[in-house]
Amino acid sequence: MKQPTLLNWIELSQAAFRQNISSLSALAGGRTLAICVKANAYGHGLPEVTRMLINRPEVDYVTVHSLDEALVVRESGWAKPVMVLGPISPSSLEAVVEHDLEPMILDRHSLTLLGKLSEKNKCSVKTHLKLETGTNRQGLTENDLPAVASVYRKYPGLGRPHGAAMHFANIEDTTSHEYAESQLKTFRRLVRRMSALKIKPRLLHAACSAALILFDKTRLDLVRPGIAAYGHWPSKETYLSYRLQGGSNDLFKPVLNWRARVTQLKHVPANSFIGYGCTYRTTSPAKLAVLPVGYADGYDRKLSNLAYVLIKGRRAPVRGRICMNLMMVDVTDIKGVRLGEEVTLLGRDGDETLTAEQLAAWAGSINYEILARLSPLIPRLLS
Ligand SMILES: *Cc1c(COP(=O)(O)O)cnc(C)c1O
Repeated sequence: MKQPTLLNWIELSQAAFRQNISSLSALAGGRTLAICVKANAYGHGLPEVTRMLINRPEVDYVTVHSLDEALVVRESGWAKPVMVLGPISPSSLEAVVEHDLEPMILDRHSLTLLGKLSEKNKCSVKTHLKLETGTNRQGLTENDLPAVASVYRKYPGLGRPHGAAMHFANIEDTTSHEYAESQLKTFRRLVRRMSALKIKPRLLHAACSAALILFDKTRLDLVRPGIAAYGHWPSKETYLSYRLQGGSNDLFKPVLNWRARVTQLKHVPANSFIGYGCTYRTTSPAKLAVLPVGYADGYDRKLSNLAYVLIKGRRAPVRGRICMNLMMVDVTDIKGVRLGEEVTLLGRDGDETLTAEQLAAWAGSINYEILARLSPLIPRLLS
């Protein structure tokens, strides 16, 4: 059967991904490197990214949010450790044993159930304790630790915790790192308490991308970067702080280009309204291109009348509201645009680049959200 022409697709640059992983590996400096692939690998496509990671010997672990993601990672052929950062339903904990996953322990009840499963299956389970240090999201407090320690003592299959983890609340949003310092201090105190309770963890870990890039002392034994692996800086503050420290500009390269094809072209006279709500009206005759992309694909509706796309290396402004599956752009001044012409919604075309950071600024969000919301239904191609 003839391969159908794609109208809306995402290209992943393997060369850029290799470069980012190699930069992260250099920053990790021999520590265990765990790459975060939650949220469909930050929108890049979980099976595709997992397969790229299988070819990167520098990567020791992947981290995911959910059990479902862990199963996709295993199905895609990843045989090394998988850490599950988010909650797992008590009735699904059997899968942890079956697929050899390393859950983050967020409550004592799940730990007890895992202890029972280790007893029943005569196996060991590697666990990571999430410690509450000031993000007040997931995490065990100092008061929880004695009871947790007694669970470890009761079930030999649990051994001692494989890891103890914390997550920074305020590391990418600011150039002041007092709060991060105070969190690290709390973390160290809780880890000392764990040792006193005879549940000394093997691996300590705290560092997301921003922490890994900027702060030696957060690197500990294992690092857990996400966004940087895909070639994006966690924030402008992180980028500027890094550059002020004398860091190079070519550490990370965006992996993803989002493209589509023009599916319709039309000439409209002056004074024509465009799209729902009649929010745009032409002041002169215009040539419009209709694109088969809308907010259902993850192209934020807040970009209506605000963003542009790239066609033939030039900017074509969005006209009218973004629809569920369609959008209109103005190509009046771009010569020779034809039906089926390639369009770049995110990424590079010739001299022009349209970044996730730019789309985020227009949409009042952050690069993480722009990427994470790219529809999993869009085909992902390796380039
Ligand atoms: C998402 C996440 C990370 C990775 O964060 P980045 O900012 O993308 O590097 C690390 N640790 C935890 C617990 C996370 O939830």
